[in-house]
Amino acid sequence: MKPPLFNHDKKFFAPFIEKIRTLYSSMDRSCAEAAAHYGFECSGCDDNCCEERFYHYTLTEHVYLMEGVGGLDDETRIEIFSRADEVIQIYRLHDSKGIIKRVMCPLNLDSLCLLYEYRPMICRLHGIPHIIRKPGQPEQQGPGCHKFDEVVMPDKTPSFEFDRTAFYSEMASLEIEIRRMLNFNGRYKKTVAGMIMDISESGKTE
Ligand code: SF4
Repeated sequence: MKPPLFNHDKKFFAPFIEKIRTLYSSMDRSCAEAAAHYGFECSGCDDNCCEERFYHYTLTEHVYLMEGVGGLDDETRIEIFSRADEVIQIYRLHDSKGIIKRVMCPLNLDSLCLLYEYRPMICRLHGIPHIIRKPGQPEQQGPGCHKFDEVVMPDKTPSFEFDRTAFYSEMASLEIEIRRMLNFNGRYKKTVAGMIMDISESGKTE
């Protein structure tokens, strides 16, 4: 189901964009703090996480990515639309043949994210071991990426409490807000390529 984002102009989203920016800044700060604690720096690896088919579940992330796409020059925008289209075709081919294979995100160009400032939540949080606390449930622990385990933590015992709970909770609040604003109750599940294609097909990026 496509989100009904496209009858609204930049002004409509502006206050909301600021709220997402604030949340993402706080995620980035916490991530940097955790990474600094471990002395971990991602400088790329043979198992690039930008090749994983991550799904994103919020209109909030879509709206912010749309803001980023709107700031690209025409040539780059056309290029990423075309790359996203190719990636979607490859996903379809793999799915039809039952193949599980890594495919580079259409925003990754020469190992750099073209919309780094606008990347979705998991692209920001991935890599560092974390915990999530949900009311009435045992604390969930999540691992770091394979590089983190290999380089930083061979014994696999985290020594820093990187808690994602507040970020997820704030993201959920923003999601409620944007869905109210857009009167949208549908399911949202998109890869970055899928988000980019929706933005492309809407013909509205500003
Ligand atoms: S959005 Fe950027 S950081 Fe996220 S997978 Fe794509 S290229 Fe990598």
